[in-house]
Amino acid sequence: MARILDGGRVRDAILQECRPRIAALPRPPGLAVVLVGRDPASEIYVRNKVKACAELGILSETITPPDSITTAELLEIVRELNSRPEIDGILVQMPLPAQVDARQALLEILPEKDVDGFHPCNVGALVTNRPGPRSCTPAGIIRLLRYYEIPVAGRHAVVVGRSDIVGKPMAMLLLHENATVTICHSKTRDLAAVCRQGDILVAALGRPAALDAEYIKPGAVVLDVGINRIADREEAARIFRNAPAKLEAFDRKGNVLVGDTHPLDVAEMASAYTPVPGGVGPLTIAVLMLNTVESAERRCRLR
Ligand code: NAP
Repeated sequence: MARILDGGRVRDAILQECRPRIAALPRPPGLAVVLVGRDPASEIYVRNKVKACAELGILSETITPPDSITTAELLEIVRELNSRPEIDGILVQMPLPAQVDARQALLEILPEKDVDGFHPCNVGALVTNRPGPRSCTPAGIIRLLRYYEIPVAGRHAVVVGRSDIVGKPMAMLLLHENATVTICHSKTRDLAAVCRQGDILVAALGRPAALDAEYIKPGAVVLDVGINRIADREEAARIFRNAPAKLEAFDRKGNVLVGDTHPLDVAEMASAYTPVPGGVGPLTIAVLMLNTVESAERRCRLR
């Protein structure tokens, strides 16, 4: 039986660690979230971030400029937040409207307030293994591996996906944990054969249930970053071909969440895995809270 790696437990442990650190600060940490436009998924993410702040005693502020914002106007908002001493973290929710230069916006955030860890200065700190905020989802996965005492050193980790927010920082963090790391992407030849070498397999490609039995080494630890909502019954029937209970759940709700790995095949082949939902998903906001607390600690000590 594969071990299920419960992200909710790890999230709770991270949040628990935040509480006394917040209490020890001379003032509450402050997080500013810039949410441009009315993208429904982004609105849900931001609402969850604000809720997590409120529960921990982190002050949060949401700025909601319209969809029509220009790059210059967004940069002005960021500059204003940079200058405010009570704001420790600034987050610009992605995606941004097409007319806005997202890279420019991320570059404008002061590195010391970049709680997403996306600024090139913080990416440099990651690569050279210096202190600094780490990209939240990959940092959460490292926390999960430690929580469950899963050995990483010397093992072959295969990361599928090379995005700046997940794949690349994940690979770097695993390297710092002394894994031997392979990064795969859409041009990788014979992806299945490469994935089958992974003692640890991280799926972050954004393709529902794409990595099935053919891609998983028996006994591997599988960490699934993917979050895909399936609303097409044929697709759901293909994925859950041997799981009538799952299909019944689909029929009741009209949709189902799946990761980037095949849920039934993973459960059969892995020694341990993160389920979707309930695996990697809960970790991201918890690490965002931790990054905000750490930023406040660094900034309060400066004064
Ligand atoms: P992304 O920016 O779209 O990057 C996807 C990566 O996967 C790219 O590097 C791409 O390769 C690669 N890829 C795409 N199709 C592939 C294929 N058929 N074979 C091999 N590689 C392929 O996605 P992302 O932002 O990293 O997110 C990945 C997944 O994680 C998504 O499902 C997203 O919803 C989820 N996510 C979850 C959380 C969380 O909190 N749990 C956080 C962030 C993201 P190329 O570079 O060659 O195009």
